Amino acid sequence: MLADKDRIFTNLYGFQPWNLKSAQARGDWDKTKDLMSRGQDAIIEEIKASGLRGRGGAGFPTGLKWSFMPKEPRADRPSFLVINADESEPGSCKDREIIRHDPHKLIEGALIAGYAMRARAAYIYIRGEFIREAETLFAAVQEAYDAGLLGKNAAKSGYDFDVFVHRGAGAYICGEETAMIESLEGKKGQPRLKPPFPAGAGLYGCPTTVNNVESIAVVPTILRRGAVWFSSFGRENNKGTKLFQISGHVNKPCVVEEEMGITFRELIDTHCGGIRGGWDNLLAVIPGGSSVPLVPAAQIMDAPMDFDGLKDLGSGLGTAAAIVMDKSTDVVQAISRISYFYKHESCGQCTPCREGTGWMWRVMERLRTGDADISEIDTLFDVTKQVEGHTICALGDAAAWPIQGLIRHFRPEIERRIRENGGALEAAE
Ligand code: NAD
Ligand code: SF4
Repeated sequence: MLADKDRIFTNLYGFQPWNLKSAQARGDWDKTKDLMSRGQDAIIEEIKASGLRGRGGAGFPTGLKWSFMPKEPRADRPSFLVINADESEPGSCKDREIIRHDPHKLIEGALIAGYAMRARAAYIYIRGEFIREAETLFAAVQEAYDAGLLGKNAAKSGYDFDVFVHRGAGAYICGEETAMIESLEGKKGQPRLKPPFPAGAGLYGCPTTVNNVESIAVVPTILRRGAVWFSSFGRENNKGTKLFQISGHVNKPCVVEEEMGITFRELIDTHCGGIRGGWDNLLAVIPGGSSVPLVPAAQIMDAPMDFDGLKDLGSGLGTAAAIVMDKSTDVVQAISRISYFYKHESCGQCTPCREGTGWMWRVMERLRTGDADISEIDTLFDVTKQVEGHTICALGDAAAWPIQGLIRHFRPEIERRIRENGGALEAAE
């Protein structure tokens, strides 16, 4: 279990006020100028050495991403940092807690990260539904300006840096980085083809890095305590501490900072008071937000909760949002509901996603009620494989993977429904 002294988010539960005075008392904005005076390349190297990987779900190395930005931005083509606070992944609620209770960690991180990548400004794109959180963020940014921590000669560093807060309007797809950039530009939020990646052509065609809230909010602490400290947690390729969000059938759902690689069992027993009805009552877990395949109870219990540990189980860490399902769960209905979500949120731009998500959901609904032929299970699996990897953005994969996980692990349950509905099994025999 992570010791309190090693927690980055010391106000995660809002026991103290979020405001600047309290944040400074907790150590935020302490000698920020000195951190910046180490130099831009040194900061990027320190973040690289820390092993920090993107906390938005994909896990791309953060320092490496920053290093793609131009070292000498042209005056007519400034660089930008975009901070993704559009947290919309079902099960994910960590960035919300950071913004609610520790917004100054994010704002200080924005200044330091923006400086390191030579950005002129940061845009924080916050989910439309986060109304109170947006109010907090606007107020915290204003406090930082009033205290001289942002704007001209930010934090007396000699560097000019602005932070703008932009509210989304409720579209899940605007969390995809290029759709977010389109939305910031005032256009319809639809993903762009990559490459070019945003570092080459991002906001207004300028070099841009898009980072998740948590990835940016941990930066000041990593620099203060050092890459060696941060990388002492976790294991190779899976370093550091991480916010886990546990929802569903545990006794005490929570958001908690823990060491990467903590086993699922320790995470649940230590912080969530165990599984509802005991460990024997666990059915399955979606370990990383709705975009990753579920993992059955027997496989997840002692699994390390990190990128590689969950990849080895055919799933993923994603946003580290564990959705816990006990044996009272109708698992086919749960995945069908997730299918509906992706159908609803598809931007409709590419055919496999636009047509495939609706088609997959309709078949899932028939599998849920047993009104299907056994052969349709294989057909559905084949269709998920046609959607996966054949779309402009990752939403297509995200729609396909939960269904693949269901069929892989719960095929007998789907067959049982069809059998009990009668007839259809005979057709397959
Ligand atoms: P991705 O792997 O395409 O990209 C991840 C990041 O790395 C991006 O910033 C991308 O620009 C960069 N990158 C990747 N390859 C690069 C290269 N060759 N050169 C330069 N930069 C490169 O993944 P993605 O589509 O950005 O994100 C998918 C993930 O998002 C999923 O794993 C899911 O878990 C997560 N997700 C999170 C939420 C949320 O609410 N936080 C919502 C939906 C999905
Ligand atoms: Fe839009 Fe879906 Fe294509 Fe992504 S995969 S661009 S959400 S249609």
